[in-house]
Amino acid sequence: MRLVFLGPPGVGKGTQAEGLARELQIPHISTGAILRDALGRGTATGLAAKKLMDAGDLVPDAVVVDLVEDRFAEQDAASGWLLDGYPRNLDQGAALDGLLSSLNLTLDHVVFFECDSAELVRRLGGRRVCRKCGSTFHIEFAPPPQSGDCSEGGECEIHQRSDDAEDAILKRLDVYHSETGPLVDHFRSQGRLVVVDGSQSIDQVGVQLRAALERSS
Ligand code: ADP
Ligand code: ADP
Repeated sequence: MRLVFLGPPGVGKGTQAEGLARELQIPHISTGAILRDALGRGTATGLAAKKLMDAGDLVPDAVVVDLVEDRFAEQDAASGWLLDGYPRNLDQGAALDGLLSSLNLTLDHVVFFECDSAELVRRLGGRRVCRKCGSTFHIEFAPPPQSGDCSEGGECEIHQRSDDAEDAILKRLDVYHSETGPLVDHFRSQGRLVVVDGSQSIDQVGVQLRAALERSS
């Protein structure tokens, strides 16, 4: 199964991807997570991306196109993957099309999650992440565990991402509308788009997502 999750920041792509990728036994490939990991390790790629990420801007296409190409070459990606946060503009969409055709592969589905901006701001503002296990929480909608429940053992180390500050959130929503929005038509015209209402609860979105994938397969 080869899936792309498309939608605005905060709509719940990462939250839904964690569970679905586990169920389908395919890797969850998030370009944002790969960049944050590179930054955590202090690589040149990560350090160069930090300023852009903190400001809510996209990192250059050449950087993410290479990251995805390298990630696809890893062994666990041979049986499929769930791409989250890539592609993010039409050029990256064309790069993905080119990479897939060079590998003789096709996408199964592109899931587009919809949600209004006020709810996205609420979700991003309350997002918290565990430094150790990488799990995503929300102070109101998905509270972090109280004690001892980190999948890496012991307590989760909860923090707020530096790009979840208010200015960067608004910038990311702008960038989404101007850069990423046009990909919806790109994938719709390829007949691959599955639309899911992302504004409902985490569980309801999960049910809808699985039903929509079932219907379109
Ligand atoms: P969110 O889902 O909250 O927008 P991500 O983790 O997907 O966050 O991305 C965080 C940041 O990483 C983005 O704002 C951007 O700076 C960078 N990034 C991630 N994926 C891409 C991509 N495909 N192209 C360019 N920049 C990216
Ligand atoms: P994305 O990967 O699309 O940027 P996330 O999965 O990181 O989004 O979710 C953003 C925030 O919203 C997180 O704090 C997450 O716990 C919360 N969240 C995700 N889905 C929902 C939902 N359906 N209802 C309420 N909160 C949600």
